[in-house]
Amino acid sequence: MTFPVDNPEASDAASDQIVRALAGASSLTVLTGAGVSAASGVPTFRGEEGLWRSHRPERLATPEAFSENPRLVWEWYQWRKERIAACKPNRAHEVIAEWSHRYPAFTLITQNVDGLHERAGTRNVVRFHGSIWEVSCWNGCRSSPARWPDHTVTYAELPPKCPHCGGLVRPGVVWFGEGIASETLELAARALANDVFLTIGTSSVVYPAASLSSAAKARGAFTGEINLEATPVSAQLDASVHGAAEVVLDELSSRCDDSGR
Ligand code: NAD
Ligand code: ZN
Repeated sequence: MTFPVDNPEASDAASDQIVRALAGASSLTVLTGAGVSAASGVPTFRGEEGLWRSHRPERLATPEAFSENPRLVWEWYQWRKERIAACKPNRAHEVIAEWSHRYPAFTLITQNVDGLHERAGTRNVVRFHGSIWEVSCWNGCRSSPARWPDHTVTYAELPPKCPHCGGLVRPGVVWFGEGIASETLELAARALANDVFLTIGTSSVVYPAASLSSAAKARGAFTGEINLEATPVSAQLDASVHGAAEVVLDELSSRCDDSGR
């Protein structure tokens, strides 16, 4: 069920459907996007705050941009790391973390690279697009691991250097135009078999993540969406609630508690 933003009754009906589905489920998969972290103060890419020094994220988060100007791309990542380091998980992260401990089978697939789900204590997180708190060697030098943790917020020197070969390091995130690791795709594919699949705070325009909700529906899962507005997948899903993730998830959580879940 999908409905226009100005139709609160339909929104309530969609929420009811999600509560019923959650109450009857023993396994749950949640897919999240930047909207889940918006209330924590992390800018989304497509929101008004997405621009940085008049650059579009889609032009900076690419291998081409990095080869052309690694310093510029790293300045942007350093700005994002500084911003994220000052943010805390919000109610949406907390509810998802609670569910991760409540359902015997649970997977969170997140497109977010900020680490806020992990900080909220969520178990079984599949980081679909990597982490801003990891780096890898740009040259893929033999002596370096595939990627390693890097919690530096403000670097002494930009761009940072690979400790193994002295070349450049790159942020440990998946850029536009890059593929998703096969192990990550496999973990996500396995999670499509769960009873309920909720897609929360994602514009559903970045593939292959955007195809996961329809794939879960095709596998027989109940599929629900929570977003401020309709997305390209809304009409294909079972229930679509228009609202802020941190508000809607808090409501769903209390209603699920009342129903004994
Ligand atoms: P997006 O910026 O394309 O879309 C954000 C979506 O969230 C929009 O549909 C918007 O309507 C919705 N939204 C905004 N505030 C909301 C709220 N309070 N509650 C519910 N929904 C809300 O983000 P995306 O779909 O995640 O795709 C962008 C890509 O950029 C991702 O692949 C991700 O890797 C990356 N990214 C990550 C972060 C992060 O780690 N926090 C932030 C920006 C972008
Ligand atoms: Zn190296």
